[in-house]
Amino acid sequence: MRPVTDVCPKAMLPVNGRPFVEIQLEWLRSEGFTHAVYSIGHLGHMIRDHVGDGSRWGVEVSYADEGEQKLGTGGALRFAWEQGLLDAEFAVLYGDSFLSVPTGAMWRHFVTSGAPALMTVLRNDGQWDRSNAIYEPLGSPAAGQAASGRVVLYDKLANPKPDAMRYIDYGMSILKRELVEQRIPAGQASDLAPLLNALSREGKLAGFEATERFYEIGSPEGLRDLQRFLSQTSASPSGAAPEAPAIVKNKPAHRVGILGGGLAGLTVSAHLDAESEVLEGGSRPGGHCQSVVEEGFTYDAGGPHIMFSRNQQTLDYMVSLLGHNVTRARRANKIFFKGRYVKYPFENGLYDLEPQDRFECLYHYLHNDHPAPTNFKEWLYRTFGTGLAEKYLIPYNEKIWNVPAEQMSMDWVEGRVPKPSVEDVIKAAVGVETEGYTHQLYFNYPATGGIEGIPKGMADKVRHITPEFPVGHVRKTRDGWLVSDGTHERVYEQIVSTLPIVEMANIFEGVPQEIKEAVAALRHNSLFTVTIGLATDRLPEYTAIYVPDPELIFHRLSFPGMFSPHNVPKGQSLVQAEITSNPGDGIWDLSDDEVLRKVIAGLESMDLVRPGEICYTKVIRTQYGYVVQDFTYRKYLDKAKNYFTAEGVALCGRNAEFEYINMDQCIERGIKVATRLNDSASLNSQQQQLVKA
Ligand SMILES: Cc1cc2nc3c(=O)[nH]c(=O)nc-3n(C[C@H](O)[C@H](O)[C@H](O)COP(=O)(O)OP(=O)(O)OC[C@H]3O[C@@H](n4cnc5c(N)ncnc54)[C@H](O)[C@@H]3O)c2cc1C
Repeated sequence: MRPVTDVCPKAMLPVNGRPFVEIQLEWLRSEGFTHAVYSIGHLGHMIRDHVGDGSRWGVEVSYADEGEQKLGTGGALRFAWEQGLLDAEFAVLYGDSFLSVPTGAMWRHFVTSGAPALMTVLRNDGQWDRSNAIYEPLGSPAAGQAASGRVVLYDKLANPKPDAMRYIDYGMSILKRELVEQRIPAGQASDLAPLLNALSREGKLAGFEATERFYEIGSPEGLRDLQRFLSQTSASPSGAAPEAPAIVKNKPAHRVGILGGGLAGLTVSAHLDAESEVLEGGSRPGGHCQSVVEEGFTYDAGGPHIMFSRNQQTLDYMVSLLGHNVTRARRANKIFFKGRYVKYPFENGLYDLEPQDRFECLYHYLHNDHPAPTNFKEWLYRTFGTGLAEKYLIPYNEKIWNVPAEQMSMDWVEGRVPKPSVEDVIKAAVGVETEGYTHQLYFNYPATGGIEGIPKGMADKVRHITPEFPVGHVRKTRDGWLVSDGTHERVYEQIVSTLPIVEMANIFEGVPQEIKEAVAALRHNSLFTVTIGLATDRLPEYTAIYVPDPELIFHRLSFPGMFSPHNVPKGQSLVQAEITSNPGDGIWDLSDDEVLRKVIAGLESMDLVRPGEICYTKVIRTQYGYVVQDFTYRKYLDKAKNYFTAEGVALCGRNAEFEYINMDQCIERGIKVATRLNDSASLNSQQQQLVKA
């Protein structure tokens, strides 16, 4: 573009009559970026004079002015770092290209990959320039579960060029600031390419595939192509940079802030019309639905999750989130009772009991004169009779809930603990096959990667997720809701909280004492999940075993290899034990090793584990496992919910609403909250139009 660029930086070249830099800033703003650093040098003052502080475009712009030094792309970043202008993670764009890449999805992949850098790539096959990258696409079988979506090799100079090198650097990357500090030399010119090359060779370069072509304004043809493209499309223009990189800090500004990135929070964001941002305290979204993929084993971190729903439409939607990555399995649950494996649910497995137990269950089911119940224990007696209640239902429920059954309310049982028909119980007792809980007799599960496939599928519909933002303070201000993690602040017009209501009451400014007390009266159960890998595949082919015996520490065992065969390597197996526990109950305060030892002892006593077979162990603690719906919870919960509703905070999700709900209902409620917000936004805009008219 010389001689024009001798007197005008590329960023200021007119594109359809406007300096290119304007188009870039508009695109960045439309993608939610609010801060940018221009790295400028020779003639950079023209950019600075035109752009100023960036407020015309709603982007806060700063400058790293290297003068006449010519530091190169790497040196320019180092210089910006020395000026204190780089965020902990930032995106960098090259100077003369016009891009179109979904930055929300790109950023999310960067975060979930755990890599210190990400490069965007485009399938090239020699079309635009010499291909320079080998990229393993997301979900590629070659990549394996943990490593997909990465650039295996980036090498501009590869000679000979490997056949697999079919991608090209697209021109936008994300870097962690520490890379600049540690790996770009100070006080000298350097390029970014060698660093990206080294990272790819070290297996540390995540990749994200752009699917739209890029344009370069560095040549008259490129400029002409771009002008034609922009005049033909009404799409938001995409960004490029001046000669040196523009560094963009990721500080999105959004109308709705969603606190918590579990399934409920992701669902709300995915269904909102307004721009929203999900703030997640952990390192990745998913909450209770996270999975572990380790040493060839796949399992759900906080306990086994299967996909089922009474609402077929919701179930279909959940399955659709997995694309083709889905399996279907048949439940094969048992109850471990007096050393026998009894078919689940217990009332459908009576024939597996000793004759005397079978008789007692059947007799009391048929001759049941228990009075109308006032608590959960009485409800069990009244619904199932003394035999079923005392042999299995009461001991099992007291184990899982960790409270005496008479202290629990009956609110939650409707639909969760179905009453079997007399016919089925008689059939079960005489040995005619029947099935209970038929809504979960068959279930779906992700073929690979564990249940996390569900929140991942939902997250793909969400533009802005910010991990590692543990919300520590929420305050209503004149400008909107101020949300802070102690270091960063966000302001939103509206907020939705999916955080445990107990936490929300602690971080929400101005909560009255009586609401604090109401929330403090709500009890939840914490959980241990102990997962054990075995170098054998001799385990019985059960999906889960329920364990009412108080002598055994766990209340349920499950077998992830039965959910999907891809969850365990050939010849091996996995067993997962769940233990409800709370501080002060004598278990929570044990060390992980002590809990593991007790689980192994229990499994050995059931002959599910034998000495020398264990090849993998993991103990995970989940703080908010189950909400405890005791007698008083409804009164206190209503009080707390009414307070937050009156304050204008929408609560959504299992621990936010303090209800014993599963994934399907979290999704349904998330959609409901989003629809309500969408409706009220559209009502507001109609009212505004009426006022203007
Ligand atoms: C043992 C067990 C087994 C289950 N099995 C099944 C099953 O088989 N099928 C089924 O459908 N459902 C099952 N469920 C239920 C299912 O896991 C939940 O309904 C669902 O995952 C809840 O989603 P959520 O978004 O409401 O909450 P969560 O998943 O808890 O999400 C809340 C999010 O908020 C984040 N957070 C918390 N505090 C902060 C903070 N201060 N700042 C920022 N972020 C914060 C958390 O990190 C988390 O990501 C099971 C649950 C358990 C415990």
